[in-house]
Amino acid sequence: MALLDVSELSVGIGDLEPLDRISFSLEKGRILGLVGESGSGKSLTAMALMGLLPFIGGRVSGGSVRFDGTELVDLAPDRYRTLRGKRMALITQNPMTSLDPMLRVGAQIDQVSQLHLGLSATEAKARSLELLTQLRIPDAATVHQQYPHQMSGGMKQRIVIAMALAGEPELIIADEPTTALDVTIQAQIIQILVDLVRDRGLALVLITHDMGVVAQACDHVAVLYAGRVVESNSVHGIFAHPTHPYTQALIACIARTGQAAGSLRGIPGMVPSVRSYASGCRFHPRCAAAQPICQDEAPVARRADELMVACHFAALELPHD
Ligand code: SF4
Repeated sequence: MALLDVSELSVGIGDLEPLDRISFSLEKGRILGLVGESGSGKSLTAMALMGLLPFIGGRVSGGSVRFDGTELVDLAPDRYRTLRGKRMALITQNPMTSLDPMLRVGAQIDQVSQLHLGLSATEAKARSLELLTQLRIPDAATVHQQYPHQMSGGMKQRIVIAMALAGEPELIIADEPTTALDVTIQAQIIQILVDLVRDRGLALVLITHDMGVVAQACDHVAVLYAGRVVESNSVHGIFAHPTHPYTQALIACIARTGQAAGSLRGIPGMVPSVRSYASGCRFHPRCAAAQPICQDEAPVARRADELMVACHFAALELPHD
């Protein structure tokens, strides 16, 4: 059974619906890449999964999020709070949104295991040092005593990962965890996350705009465009046979620029804001393959094996490798 099963999830903010019936699932020990440009709805998906929509004036307006068999939509806030940090953890793009600048980082990690695992102060510190060592932080005892401002961006992000792991969660949602870091550190942090998933059997939703990161880390990919999943498949399938024109354009960007960072420059136009989503297929103003029907009718998702694609003209019959 999937640890996380998201089905037809829609999110509303005021009279807008920035996420429209998105679906994906994830098993333990696996990594799902949620990929798309800025404004495609990736971070909103993270907020929805973590039960944080009320903090930004949003709500789930339809669909289901099941975690280990429990429906999370409409879960009581106190039960969601118990899940967050203990069974599900969020890693954000900017470590400083998670770290208290006034507290030593060791104390911040210790607090998580004291709160969620009931450890004593001594036990929590020992566990924090063990986590820091596992995250390949040299001289963990010194780092444990430091304040965030004494650290590099890459080190701060490792501390945030240590905090996320301290409650022994089964599911981690990492929202662009390496975007603010330089390329070498990015690759190291992603590899740490991959190793944690493989070694501990965690499930990871890795939110990124970077197809290079997807190729490095993920087992399965869901491509978001303007609040809809337009294609999902195994990582092998998506790179070997991208079927949606948007996915094809994302991958062509990397091939053309040779940038592992997956710059999305090169796809003409921009992701529309939620107030100006196009009718029919939301990608049609940017799609080189668009036909008249694309303006009028939203494509229905079609499936074949692991592939799901929402395009009127995408071929489901794929060549065999
Ligand atoms: Fe392009 Fe039409 Fe397919 Fe949308 S449905 S991706 S506009 S061909």
